[in-house]
Amino acid sequence: MRDIRLVNVSKAFGKEAILNNYNLTVPAGNFFVLLGPSGCGKTTILRLIAGFEKADRGKIFLGEQDISDLAPNERNINTVFQNYALFPHLNVFDNIAYGLKVKRVDQDEIAERVIKVLSTVHLEKQTYKTIDQLSGGQQQRVALARAIINEPDVLLLDEPLAALDLKLREKVLVELIELQEKLKTTFIYITHDQDEALVVADKMAIMNYQGQIEQIGGPDEIYDRPRTAFVANFVGQTNLLKGTLVMTDNWIVQLDRLGLAMPALESWIKPEVQGHKLKFSLRPEKIIIQREQVNLQGYENYIAGQVVSVIYHGKSTIYRVQVGMDLILQVFEQSRSNLEEFFVGDSLWLCWRSKDVVLLQD
Ligand code: ATP
Repeated sequence: MRDIRLVNVSKAFGKEAILNNYNLTVPAGNFFVLLGPSGCGKTTILRLIAGFEKADRGKIFLGEQDISDLAPNERNINTVFQNYALFPHLNVFDNIAYGLKVKRVDQDEIAERVIKVLSTVHLEKQTYKTIDQLSGGQQQRVALARAIINEPDVLLLDEPLAALDLKLREKVLVELIELQEKLKTTFIYITHDQDEALVVADKMAIMNYQGQIEQIGGPDEIYDRPRTAFVANFVGQTNLLKGTLVMTDNWIVQLDRLGLAMPALESWIKPEVQGHKLKFSLRPEKIIIQREQVNLQGYENYIAGQVVSVIYHGKSTIYRVQVGMDLILQVFEQSRSNLEEFFVGDSLWLCWRSKDVVLLQD
C-alpha cells in the first residue's frame, strides 16, 4: 500500500490559476474526502492524480514513485466518473471485463476475476443484462466493479452518487464504506455534500476557492473543532460570534454584544493575541433552551432571549433567538415528545458550555 502525495503542484487553465503550490498527502488505505464548493478545483486535483491533466509545476508521488509524467494507464490508479462512462451496448460482464481484454489477459482468468468482482459489488444476478436494463444504483456498481477489477493502489471517485436519489445515495454510501474496508484500497472521494463527506471519510480536506486547503482532519475534528469561519460554516451550520481575548490569570474571551466572558480553552493561543478581536463558532445544537434560568451542571453560560422565528423540520426544530440588541442565535432542538415547545415572542434562556465555543484562527 502506498500513499499519494502532491508536492507544490500548480495548475492554470489559460490565465485562470486553479491550484497554486498545492500540497496534499493522502495516507495509504484511507477513505479520504476532498470537500469544497463548486469550482474550487476538486475535479482538477483528481484529474491530475489520474493523469488526465498535467501539472504546470510540482510533482505527484505514489509511494516513492514519481508518477507526474506517466500516462493514465501507466499509473495503478482508477477513476469512477460522475456519469459512470459505461459502454451502453455491452452487457455488465463485458463492461467489467473490457480493461482486462484490452490488456489481453487470458479468457479463463478474466471470467474468474469478473465473477469475483461481481460478487463483491452484489451484481451476480445482473451479469448478462445490458446497461440500460439496470437501475441507477446498479449502474453505479458496475462502474465501481470496472474500476476495482484491476486492484488499483488508488481509486478516485468523482461525486459518484450525484445521479442517485437521496434514499439510494444513503444505501450506496454504506456499501462504499463496506467495500473500502474490505479492499483496503485508498479511496479519494470528492463531493460538495458535507453530510456525505462526514459519513464516509476517515480523513477529509476542506477546500476553499483556488485550491486552498482550510483544514485537514477526521470528521469529528473538522465538525467539533473547525479552524476557520469558512470550515465552521461549510461543514454544518453555526453561530459566528465575535469577541476579544484577554489575559487575566488564564485566557478569557469577552464576547461582544453578549456581555459574557468565558475561559478560552484553545491550545494554540499565544501571548501575541492578547487584546485581539477574534471570531468564535457555537454550533446551534450545543445550545439548550430553558423557560426559566436553571443552573445545569457543566453549563457555565446563560443568557436571556426572545424567540423571533420557529422553523419546524420534522426531526428537529430551529429556533432563532434574539439575545442582544442586534444578535440572533440559532438553536436546534431535536424533536422529542418530552420537550417543551416555544413560540414566536416567548421569552426564554439559552445556555451552553464554554468548551463548545470554538475560537477560529482567522
Ligand atoms: P464542481 O464541484 O462544480 O465539480 P470542482 O471543485 O471539481 O467543481 P473543477 O472542475 O476542478 O472544480 O474546476 C475548477 C476551475 O477550473 C473552474 O473554474 C473551472 O471552470 C476551471 N476548469 C476546469 N477544467 C477546465 C478546462 N479544461 N479548461 C478551462 N477551465 C477549466
